[in-house]
This record gives sequence, C-alpha cells and structure tokens, in this order.
Amino acid sequence: MPTLTFYYHNIISGDHIGKSAISLKNFTKSLDFIRRFGYSFTDLGSIINSLKLEKIPKQCLITFDDGYENNITALPILHEYGIKAVFFLISSKINKEGFLSAKQINEIISEGHSVGSHTSTHPELTSLDPVKLKAELLDSKKELEDITGHEITSLAYPKGLYNAKSVEAAETCGYVTAFSTKHGEPYKWENRFRLKRYPVSGRDSSIKMFFKIFRRAITQ
Ligand SMILES: [Zn+2]
Repeated sequence: MPTLTFYYHNIISGDHIGKSAISLKNFTKSLDFIRRFGYSFTDLGSIINSLKLEKIPKQCLITFDDGYENNITALPILHEYGIKAVFFLISSKINKEGFLSAKQINEIISEGHSVGSHTSTHPELTSLDPVKLKAELLDSKKELEDITGHEITSLAYPKGLYNAKSVEAAETCGYVTAFSTKHGEPYKWENRFRLKRYPVSGRDSSIKMFFKIFRRAITQ
C-alpha cells in the first residue's frame, strides 16, 4: 500500500497511556518508524494530486482528529521532521476548554499545515436526515473558512462512518476529499470520498502497538 494515512487524537507530555492519547515521545518514535520504512511525509495537496496518478508514490500523511488543544505541542516536532499535517476540527468545539482556539488554528496554518472539517458537532453522519447532514458539512466548512481564510476541501467522517448519502452530501457541499478509518478504501481518484486511515491513538498508544498498526497497514 503506497499511501499510508495515520490519525492521532491527543498528544500528551507525560508517559501516561490513555484512551485516544499518545505521549509526545511515542509520537516522535512513530514518525521515526514511518521514515525508517522508506515512507516520505506528504501534505494534503500532494495527496489529492496523487490520486489521479497511475502509480502512487510511497507516501505518508499525518492527521489529527477533533482539534484538541494539546495538538499544539506537536508543532515543533512536525517542524523538525518537515511534516505538513492535516488537523480535522469540530467547528463547535473551537475556543472551548481543551480544544484549539481560533488563534492557535491560525498558528497551525501559518506553519504550513492544513485544516479540514470534522463536522460541526461530531454526530454519526449515517444516522442524520438530509437537512441535518447538509448543515453539519456546510456550517463547519464555512466557520473554518471564516477562521482560516482558506478554502476547506477535506472532511473526516466522525468515527469514520459514512454511507452513500454522506459521500453524496460531501461532494454536493463542495468537498474534494473525505477520509474515513478502517472502513475506508485505497487511494484512488474514484475513492476520494472514502479514503482510508489508520488510528495511532486508539485503546493503546504504546510504541509496540504502533508497530502492530504499521505492520498491518503495510501488508493490507
Ligand atoms: Zn473524531
């Protein structure tokens, strides 16, 4: 599998291993590991461009979901590794306690990272009626565009859940790509609204678990 996309949630400073959290130390180790296996880090724009290529290069995209404030602590590491990541934000959580502020989001943008929508309120999109579904996708897109001054072209489905209606709504609302999780598909233009990602910060965020996730990802 030439394109690997990983998603992280909380980045924490201590050694505590919690749900949806990885220590800064293990986050760095995971990046070393990806690099050692010959994957080059890529950015959102390059991923989109590569979807139309016959042969997609061996590349890795780093993404963060939910917009936790502690993600800001990953910036120096991302800078050191020359990584341009994607931060998928829940627009209703911006400026709330524990989440990134509009000011921090602009700091992230100024370092060359991208921002994507993770909807307005993080519902399971597959259970929404068409009006609510459209509102989740459009309102978040507009709010993020107002904050960043950039067009928001990518979406990450909450919990990775999508169906034909979510895919159709994402396209209608002006997104160019949408990312899932284990439910996703390989990186091809026709799958651009179903792109697969692997979780790093699930129930266990030890580096041993990362090895397992990585090995599974590259053998699929
Ligand atoms: Zn989420």
